Amino acid sequence: MNKNSAGFTNIKTIVSVAFVAVCVAVFDVAFSALKEPPLTFPIDGRASGTFPSEWIHGSKSAMDNTDPAVQVHAYNDHTFILRENKAINYEGVFMYLFFGNGVAMLIDQGSTSSPALFPLREVVDKIIREWEEQHQQSDIELIVANSHLHGDHYAAWNQFVDRPNTIMVGLTHEEMMAFWGIDNYPQEIVTYDLGGRELVVTGTPGHQGSELAIYDGWTDLLYTGDMFYRGRLYLEDWDAWVASIRKLRRIADRNPVVHLVNNHIEMTAEPGIDYPIGTTWQPNEPPMQMTLEMLDQAVEATYEVNSPGIYIYDDFLIYNQIPWYTTTDL
Ligand SMILES: [Zn+2]
Repeated sequence: MNKNSAGFTNIKTIVSVAFVAVCVAVFDVAFSALKEPPLTFPIDGRASGTFPSEWIHGSKSAMDNTDPAVQVHAYNDHTFILRENKAINYEGVFMYLFFGNGVAMLIDQGSTSSPALFPLREVVDKIIREWEEQHQQSDIELIVANSHLHGDHYAAWNQFVDRPNTIMVGLTHEEMMAFWGIDNYPQEIVTYDLGGRELVVTGTPGHQGSELAIYDGWTDLLYTGDMFYRGRLYLEDWDAWVASIRKLRRIADRNPVVHLVNNHIEMTAEPGIDYPIGTTWQPNEPPMQMTLEMLDQAVEATYEVNSPGIYIYDDFLIYNQIPWYTTTDL
């Protein structure tokens, strides 16, 4: 009797366990059907994107400016370009927000500290919330990184220090390179996995001694920060810049770069003519993005320039070891 009873109980237990297992499996299948698959960022082919036909570019009277403090432009679903209002700070810097699975990276934090004047954290948090909703992700991590260590690119860094779920890369050369895993700056070229999105990162000093360039394999954008943009290229170390520009050309030889993107616009749409330094209104701006032909022009310049001075090219000016406050208007 006892034996039989025990045998009966065992069968009951086995049936129950089997039933629970089937339920779990069914639930799992149903649940995974509801859940979005992870985002993929293939490096073959290209995720296209668009630039605005013109950026918000300040106003005749900075006092009367009614534009948003930060212009937000979605280059594509997972790539945002932000610009600080020139009426708030004439630098009118561009900042970048790249998304991967479970993570976003903010590159640079503008030229103004005050959240009242320049609410960068609020703007970034809103983009992240909306992105999470759209892509069925939640509680993603934010990495606060920098292209280089000049104050017009990290002024609002302080707005993020108490943000939960945030990695602050840091504002020293050592912290920056440790984060990216660069042991041998500037020569080393590393790849960084941003939630499945592969970034190629390398040192590009010349304008500043901790600068980095980033090639995004998914969009084929090459980010050149302050060392190459449509404006006055202030170079503190000519030989370092020469090596950096030639290295960017080699990266572009090996990868199908589509646009070079960066941090400022200081040129007018007229070849070789820049806006006066400090201007808060640029009604005739050329596009921010640059071409490989312009990079070739910079490579040529590395063979032409041989002493300190100002050298004028159609799309950029080289200020080789010239104080930053010197302009071509004087
Ligand atoms: Zn700079």
